[in-house]
Amino acid sequence: MDMQEKREAMLYEPAEGGKVRCRLCGHECLIAPGASGICKVRRNVDGRLVSLSYDALVAVHIDPIEKKPLFHFLPGTLSLSVAAAGCNFQCAFCQNWQISQAPRTGQVVGGQRVPPEELVAGAARQGCASISYTYTEPTIFFELAYDTARLARAKGIGNCFVSNGFMTPQAVETIAPYLDAINVDLKAFRDETYREVMKARLGPVLTCLKALTAAGIWVEVTTLVVPGMNDSDAELRDIAGFIAGQLGPDVPWHVSRFHGDYKMPGSAATPIATLHRAVQIGREAGLRYIYSGNVPGDDNESTRCPHCRAMLIRRRGFSIAANRLAGGKCPDCGAEIAGRWE
Ligand code: SF4
Repeated sequence: MDMQEKREAMLYEPAEGGKVRCRLCGHECLIAPGASGICKVRRNVDGRLVSLSYDALVAVHIDPIEKKPLFHFLPGTLSLSVAAAGCNFQCAFCQNWQISQAPRTGQVVGGQRVPPEELVAGAARQGCASISYTYTEPTIFFELAYDTARLARAKGIGNCFVSNGFMTPQAVETIAPYLDAINVDLKAFRDETYREVMKARLGPVLTCLKALTAAGIWVEVTTLVVPGMNDSDAELRDIAGFIAGQLGPDVPWHVSRFHGDYKMPGSAATPIATLHRAVQIGREAGLRYIYSGNVPGDDNESTRCPHCRAMLIRRRGFSIAANRLAGGKCPDCGAEIAGRWE
């Protein structure tokens, strides 16, 4: 596929002097002819914004949906999980930096050409209940995700994003009719951390999270707890308070253990006690479902009824050891458990 044939980008508008303004993510890049946006995978070609990563997949795997993590969405099912190269963030602690940062380090944006029709047929053939757009940032391979999600929806297959939540409200509105669930990383609650460590901003993430819940998409939030970056009681309280107050107490919060990576390879892993402190802070904020991540065997991996504390879904890592939910309700006290169960 040469440059003229590349998939035209969605959500941009022409600007003066042959430039274009991309409206896909919170950076809202103004891009001169021949230049690319901050993500390096959307380029202005003669006044037309094109996606350089359309149908160029760098990862295709079949994962349990629990790995996203999505714990209240079709538990125990498989999800065809796909990624194209690139990201609009530059997190120093990225765990997938080889593929997320490749375009930024001058590597060619390439990959396996798999058209949306083939992805959907593959998901059906492999018995996957959903397709997840994950590992890198689905926002910046939006066109591939959008085209695939529309076809998947028509075949009764769900669609999930695992995202940094930097989509504009227009992007949320565009994908909402086809997007069933999303896990958003809320990486900090300090704008200076977003600016320094992620090379982004906090405000658009909070706006996006509110737009996603208002659109009726099933939302779960993950915070990778990094020692010294976001692990103070005050910041964890701010995150938990925002989720409970602005998104709702039924939104699950995953607090995940950090292992040194990318530009922070020597950093210490998050102490388990810190995760337990975060779980406690989440409970005090009124959240009903708080999970610890990257700690296999921890009791906080399982779902308990928020009313009678009965064990409902027992997990170990990404596997389900037992699921006692009956029609989305606690079998002991009958309480409704929020989620998309069927
Ligand atoms: S997706 Fe975001 S980073 Fe990429 S060109 Fe558009 S506004 Fe810029």
